[in-house]
Amino acid sequence: MNQYHSIAIDGPSGAGKSTMARALAQEMGYLYVDTGAIYRTVGLAVQRRGVDPQDPQAVEQVLGQVDITMGYGSDGAQRMYLDGEDVSQAIRQHEISHYASQVAALAPVRAFLLSKQRHLAENHNVIMDGRDIGTVVLPQAEVKIFLTADAKDRAQRRYLELLERGQKADLDQILKDVVERDRQDMEREIAPLKKAEDATVVDTTGRGLAESHELLRKAIEAKLGTKEVRP
Ligand code: C5P
Repeated sequence: MNQYHSIAIDGPSGAGKSTMARALAQEMGYLYVDTGAIYRTVGLAVQRRGVDPQDPQAVEQVLGQVDITMGYGSDGAQRMYLDGEDVSQAIRQHEISHYASQVAALAPVRAFLLSKQRHLAENHNVIMDGRDIGTVVLPQAEVKIFLTADAKDRAQRRYLELLERGQKADLDQILKDVVERDRQDMEREIAPLKKAEDATVVDTTGRGLAESHELLRKAIEAKLGTKEVRP
């Protein structure tokens, strides 16, 4: 029996998973695991080698050639390393989202990540966010949240995020990309994005960060109790 608590937060991109999960993990003293960042690192490795992200054999070959590790900075932020290089910034490029989503549909990629993710949950109290954490990776998690918001709201947030980082952004294009990525994530055969039957839905449409954070915290408290959430 796992002596550690697991909190699984799944949902489409731009619902606020990473921002809120990271902050909550810090408040609770849990390890925060952004699983999307690991898929993004695989996507980056594939893009850099000029490999077709939809070709399972070619992508599997890349997996065998690269060293993907993660760590935590002194600020508690998760950092990703590709062959020793810190790629935490590089994986946030807009183009890499597509690569991540495409490689994430492939069986060898999902198998590669599964054991890494479970290993972390077996050794730490974790808040893990992704698309299939409550359904596939940690089906025994004590808390399962499905965090969502309207596609328009999510696109708007992504747009502001990119502008803040000084990157070029086109809102219409981002909305199209968000809808397309949702479709890819929900329609894939292996580990599609869907709400676990026993997950609590938290909808952040029209809500700011502080309000959404409070909603999420309350949903977790309802399962784990106030003491665990506000130590
Ligand atoms: O969360 P983020 O947008 O960074 O994830 C990038 C992509 O990685 C997603 O669009 C999805 O295709 C994939 N992903 C996944 N399963 C997870 C986390 C992310 O398939 N648990």
